[in-house]
Amino acid sequence: MKTYQIACIPGDGIGKEVIPAGQEVLEALAKAQDKFNFKFKSFGWGGDWYREHGVMMPADGLGEIRNADAILFGSAGDPQIPDHITLWGLRLKICQGFDQYANVRPTRILPGIDAPLKRCAPKDLDWVIVRENSEGEYAGVGGRAHQGHPIEVATDVSMMTRAGVERIMRFAFKLAQSRPRRQLTVVTKSNAQRHAMVMWDEIAVQVAKEFPDVKWDKELVDACTARMVNRPASLDTLVATNLHADILSDLAAALAGSLGIAPTGNIDPERRYPSMFEPIHGSAFDIMGKGLANPVGTFWSCVMLLEHLGEPAAAQRLMKAIESVTANPELHTGDLGGKATTKQVTAAVIHQLNAAR
Ligand code: ATP
Ligand code: MG
Repeated sequence: MKTYQIACIPGDGIGKEVIPAGQEVLEALAKAQDKFNFKFKSFGWGGDWYREHGVMMPADGLGEIRNADAILFGSAGDPQIPDHITLWGLRLKICQGFDQYANVRPTRILPGIDAPLKRCAPKDLDWVIVRENSEGEYAGVGGRAHQGHPIEVATDVSMMTRAGVERIMRFAFKLAQSRPRRQLTVVTKSNAQRHAMVMWDEIAVQVAKEFPDVKWDKELVDACTARMVNRPASLDTLVATNLHADILSDLAAALAGSLGIAPTGNIDPERRYPSMFEPIHGSAFDIMGKGLANPVGTFWSCVMLLEHLGEPAAAQRLMKAIESVTANPELHTGDLGGKATTKQVTAAVIHQLNAAR
């Protein structure tokens, strides 16, 4: 029987509660499927590691998880440590070290969830946002000079490479092609950003020629936010730059009901390195240690992890179990207006997995 090696990095805050819950669910699923096993290895990197060692992860940390089949990540963030250290010292180090250049963020309204977008039928909202995850506005190019003086200057340069844009466009077109509607919206801002975004548009036109069966259109990022609210059913797969997709995917998660539900995958499509799956929420120190965190975002991330491992039947079984649990308001956590605990939701999903046996 195949055994998948999963590196677990719970990180900080509620990451320490939702990742063990995800492990439990994956273990129960493996038992129920009886076709593969998981071997989990946990790494205590994050804020606590920083307090002890002065870094978020060991220098050879990437080497320790390099051979895993996938990584399950919680969150990195600690009120006592500056954000740029927690972000760049762990999560982004892994994303960049393993060239996980495609960040994939599905959004759907799950059964039973009271989403703000009330006039939108649940089936109208089935999006996947593809975020360029390796360059663009977050490339870290820029600098400051003459600090504190009237002539002070500061720049953040959005750096895009032809190779970087081509590979994310190709990934997005391929993903759109694999979905029932075969439709892609290329998000841009080339009316105002006249260099990199114009190249982005040109490359979209060029790559589209390789995918004649994909319907695609171009939308300005500002207009796209309005379209997500006013005409949600007109969107399916979207591709956007690092910054644009960062903003659009938070909007998407909020429209679908809660930050606590949404999953994401940081993917190396070429499979040279392990890909990393995580809930999109942060460390949420306000509810940490109370057993109140919604584990659904982690469970849905586990669905993406299973799809990536090439286990679509298991992925579907887990997604069905999650949906039958969200359909019951008594199993909603606080972020969804309910009173359920992390443990209750986890037990209910495991119960459903076994019932579907
Ligand atoms: P970070 O600094 O790591 O981003 P944060 O404290 O900003 O962490 P977020 O995860 O961004 O926390 O979420 C904002 C708020 O949403 C949290 O303070 C919490 O109350 C709520 N929240 C987020 N995720 C969950 C969850 N999984 N379950 C319940 N509530 C959540
Ligand atoms: Mg936050």
